[in-house]
Amino acid sequence: VEMTVAVERDITQAKSHEQELAAAREAAEDGARAKADFLATMSHEIRTPMNGVVGMAELLSGTPLTKEQNEYVDTIKSSAAALLTIINDVLELSRLDAHKVELHPVDFDLLACVSDTVRLIRPQANSKGLRLSLETLTEVPELVHADDGRLRQILINLLGNAVKFTENGAVYLRLSVEQAASGHVAIIEVEDTGIGIPADKIEHVFERFSQAEANTTRTYGGTGLGLSISRELVGLMGGSLTVDSTLGSGSCFSLRLPLAPPMQIGGTDQQMKI
Ligand code: ADP
Repeated sequence: VEMTVAVERDITQAKSHEQELAAAREAAEDGARAKADFLATMSHEIRTPMNGVVGMAELLSGTPLTKEQNEYVDTIKSSAAALLTIINDVLELSRLDAHKVELHPVDFDLLACVSDTVRLIRPQANSKGLRLSLETLTEVPELVHADDGRLRQILINLLGNAVKFTENGAVYLRLSVEQAASGHVAIIEVEDTGIGIPADKIEHVFERFSQAEANTTRTYGGTGLGLSISRELVGLMGGSLTVDSTLGSGSCFSLRLPLAPPMQIGGTDQQMKI
């Protein structure tokens, strides 16, 4: 009888421990959701007056101003843009934590998507005198199935960083598509001839708010959130994002992204309908 009681107590304790863990997990989820809701409200409240600041700065720059006054207005505009970036990044991370980020995979032209992001970054590269090249190393299927908006966001982050942390030389984007057992995989490398990342910092660049050098913040600006958002998004998409870098000579970020076959040509959904 004693043994039965002991065993029963054990089971009860084990159960209650599991329940505690589940409750803790649920509380964490609730916490993440509450935080995401709070940040969504906050960011809305901040964005509205910020639109006023940006709008008025735009209007001011359309009026006759001295060179000095124009510089002040430019600072207002770039500070407002920096603040909006921070707000958006923090909001995005909290939405990722609360599992509120949903993917919207569609059929799209991978090469056109990659070329578009390169075109978008080109003015930034040109203004620093950097070469920016896009190379395709294999054949690229005309249509692929993935979340093209998220892919753009990740590429803009990687290309933007490559241009930001490179003073002279070039930024290369290389695209190839491999056939794996599970389907097509896009392999995208963003390589630069920039400042590189110190060996002891390389493991940490994907962590939130991590910046490889303390004075990098002042020299280059940024929040240290872009790469952690990119890596989490890539994870959601079933891919991987890694980096290889040599201090003083450059960095190479490699993105592997699984691509489903296009729905139009006979994806699973289509087959099931038939
Ligand atoms: P941010 O660029 O806003 O600081 P990220 O999360 O995009 O934040 O990058 C984190 C850090 O990783 C950067 O601050 C920088 O120190 C380092 N880093 C990222 N990309 C590069 C690159 N191409 N070359 C050198 N360092 C980089």
